[in-house]
Amino acid sequence: MKIVSSYFLEEKFNTSIFFLSFILSFFWCNLCGADNATLVTDQRQMLHTYVEIKAYGDNASIAINAAFIEMERVNSLLNNYDPTSEISLINNNAGGDAVSISPETVEALQTALKFGKLSGGALDITIGPLLRLWGFAQEIPSMKGAGPNAQEIKKTRQLVDYRSLQVQQDVQGGPGTARLAKKGMWIDVGSFSKGYCADKAIAMLKKYGISSALVAAGGTICAIGRKAVGSPWKVAIRHPRKEDDFMTFVPLCAASISTSGDYERFYKKNGKRMGHIIDPRTGKPVERMQSVSVIAATGLESDLLSTTLFVLGPEKGKKLIDSLPGTSALLVSHNGKISMSEKWPEKVVIY
Ligand code: ADP
Ligand code: MG
Repeated sequence: MKIVSSYFLEEKFNTSIFFLSFILSFFWCNLCGADNATLVTDQRQMLHTYVEIKAYGDNASIAINAAFIEMERVNSLLNNYDPTSEISLINNNAGGDAVSISPETVEALQTALKFGKLSGGALDITIGPLLRLWGFAQEIPSMKGAGPNAQEIKKTRQLVDYRSLQVQQDVQGGPGTARLAKKGMWIDVGSFSKGYCADKAIAMLKKYGISSALVAAGGTICAIGRKAVGSPWKVAIRHPRKEDDFMTFVPLCAASISTSGDYERFYKKNGKRMGHIIDPRTGKPVERMQSVSVIAATGLESDLLSTTLFVLGPEKGKKLIDSLPGTSALLVSHNGKISMSEKWPEKVVIY
């Protein structure tokens, strides 16, 4: 099977971190006298990564299977590299007519636009043309030659503006329409699709009566309930520069955590690391951060916010997070300096 890109291997590694954290937490819970409720684990290759689901409950296997099918369904609406997705339909009609979209696509786009506005455009899901300019719109990112000049960046930035994405919905929770104002504009769902698909997996598990589960999709992990013993799930946060090390472990109950890093999708140019998160305001890859982790109520929110804070940096990022109820963040700057928002749950972080 294909997909052995550096991206894939990195993502696999992240998942293995998740495994280890789970093993550790399970071990701890056994020491505390855990009961032996059955844990079912399954993993699949999807969304350009490994997705792993763990659930307790009698019908966990059936529920997990249904959750994977649901993730595939929602991904087929959102995936901007699938020419038949709703997002591709919007992209291909940029500058033309509005197209019909499902309630799921409306919800994801509206939430992304909300954070675009709250961040003053640091998060901009119409970032596609800049990703292409910098060599990130391909499986293995790379850049031939000297890279784009100021003129090319300026011209491409004119095609990036979240305010030019119009999303309409007549009835709350219903379908809607979407339109990009200019030809050449392009929505990229990389900042939120895995988080949103993970939310949909959790919703499906709940439908099957599951009350204790974890869904890990790339850099996002969503949790419901607690482990069988009643203590919270624990999730490891990877050290951005030491592959086999963790900086800290955080408890997670009925919440989601996402990490955005400069160590997953990047290439080196003249000794400089060029990462896959681009500041729409400069039109260039962000260099000031190594990683950002965000805890929020949903995978959609944590995924969007980790990308947002990566662009905003520690000062503005913490300010935004502290203004949003139920969210917290841990940020690592380019020089290894750690910052955390007021409500970040674990103060011991070792870099
Ligand atoms: P992942 O979950 O794959 O680790 P992140 O959540 O960290 O990804 O988001 C990074 C992705 O978001 C990039 O690969 C790209 O697709 C997209 N992206 C890059 N810069 C921005 C931006 N400023 N606003 C919105 N999306 C962005
Ligand atoms: Mg994200």
